[in-house]
Amino acid sequence: MGLYYKSTRSSGHEVTASQAVLEGLAGDGGLYVPSYIPKLDVSMSDLSEMTYQQAAYEVMKLFLTDFTEDELKSCIEKAYDDKFDTPEIAPVVYVNDACFLELYHGKTIAFKDMALSLLPHLMTTAAKKNGVTDEIVVLAATSGDTGKAALEGFCDADGTRIIVFYPKDGVSPVQERQMVTQKGSNTFVAGIRGNFDDAQYGVKKIFSDAKLNETLNRSGFRLSSANSINIGRLIPQVAYYVYAYAVLTADGTVSDGEPVNFVVPTGNFGNILAAYYAKQMGVPVGRLICASNMNNVLTDFFNTGIYDRNRRFYTTSSPSMDILVSSNLERLIYHISGDDPEKTAYLMKSLSESGKYVIPGDMRKQLGVFFADYATEDETLQSIRELYGQSGYVIDPHTAVGLSVYRKYVSKTGDSAKTVIVSTASPFKFCGTVIKAIRGDTGGLSEFELEDELKSLSGMAEPEAVSALRTAPVRHTTVCDCDDMEQVMVKWLGIM
Ligand SMILES: *Cc1c(COP(=O)(O)O)cnc(C)c1O
Repeated sequence: MGLYYKSTRSSGHEVTASQAVLEGLAGDGGLYVPSYIPKLDVSMSDLSEMTYQQAAYEVMKLFLTDFTEDELKSCIEKAYDDKFDTPEIAPVVYVNDACFLELYHGKTIAFKDMALSLLPHLMTTAAKKNGVTDEIVVLAATSGDTGKAALEGFCDADGTRIIVFYPKDGVSPVQERQMVTQKGSNTFVAGIRGNFDDAQYGVKKIFSDAKLNETLNRSGFRLSSANSINIGRLIPQVAYYVYAYAVLTADGTVSDGEPVNFVVPTGNFGNILAAYYAKQMGVPVGRLICASNMNNVLTDFFNTGIYDRNRRFYTTSSPSMDILVSSNLERLIYHISGDDPEKTAYLMKSLSESGKYVIPGDMRKQLGVFFADYATEDETLQSIRELYGQSGYVIDPHTAVGLSVYRKYVSKTGDSAKTVIVSTASPFKFCGTVIKAIRGDTGGLSEFELEDELKSLSGMAEPEAVSALRTAPVRHTTVCDCDDMEQVMVKWLGIM
């Protein structure tokens, strides 16, 4: 039997890749994981001559095993086209001694576009393959960037509807404006009174409500997820790590086989988990550096083996990482337990009951590839300011958390291996913070004036994603309590 997918929490429930994409979350509340991590079957020297699309195909064909070559290639062609503002799709940029993998050249200028440009195509293809005729209702909780990227991806996609919940007071002004102005007859956006964890919890609750799902099915709807719990988000993300390594070998930065570190600004642990998968596939990865903001639950986890969400929640200048329950960590836990669903289920039960779990020593030993640290708000602003001062290159606050943690990593370990900092958003998404970092304050400027200021000091063109917002009308005004998420959804679908 080739590669298939199974739940992190129980054995027996085996599904194909396309079924896992359609379902999102496994029925037992676990996450789908591949039955093994496949090895790359093309050489780095071949990969280094490929376009992004070609390399992405070589990676994804190994995981999405029940998609035909034509199906997968067609999905990839539709996803990575001129929606991206550069044909390289994910350019590697050298700035003084640092190297950035810019993942923000898609339509909504955050790295979420890398997977969410593709997911709708995978999902509609998967629906056809599995004879699904129900309308697919994509449900997403967002800390700011997933929501907009998913809305753009699914906007007016045949046979789908999409509903997004975001923390009303927990996203940047541009992030909020991007979402509430979303067009499309199949889109719905609601703010919730709560933080991202509350939104994610509410969404997971809707998924695991059997009675509700039955009611939806009777009305011709079927839920799916656009969050990084869906393997259709995770697998496309593996591709850019493989691609980045190939680019570094092509331009002579490293010789084939030389280890490269990746620094990943982390929230829900999806992006860095994709890097971990790339390593398992055979990409020569040295260390994976997990960078957190003040919500440093992962820093503590990697340094102590204790995951404890019982702590203060901070609203920071890197809102897409303001998360205390990192969903995708469950997949890593599963892998380091030796793919043991019982152990994983036990730890996750502890997390849901007491907000905490402790992994045993034998599992901790498997975490050597990771290094974890965090940046304070001051350190985040400082790294934006310093890099700008040295080079004129402007990074967003999430990437700045990564840079700050990278500096700490080098001073703690002395490691001089080539390192790629994963750049997760355009600075234009967080103009206020970036101007404050560089100028010291925002001088009472309005959001639009801040955008103009950033344009002039960075020398960058304002992305279409931002300029279009200046005149876009607000279309979504719903705000609700977390307890009402289900009702809001059901009402919008018109079934109660
Ligand atoms: C989502 C996001 C992150 C965190 O990524 P995870 O996969 O959730 O760890 C970091 N930076 C930005 C800009 C994001 O949008």
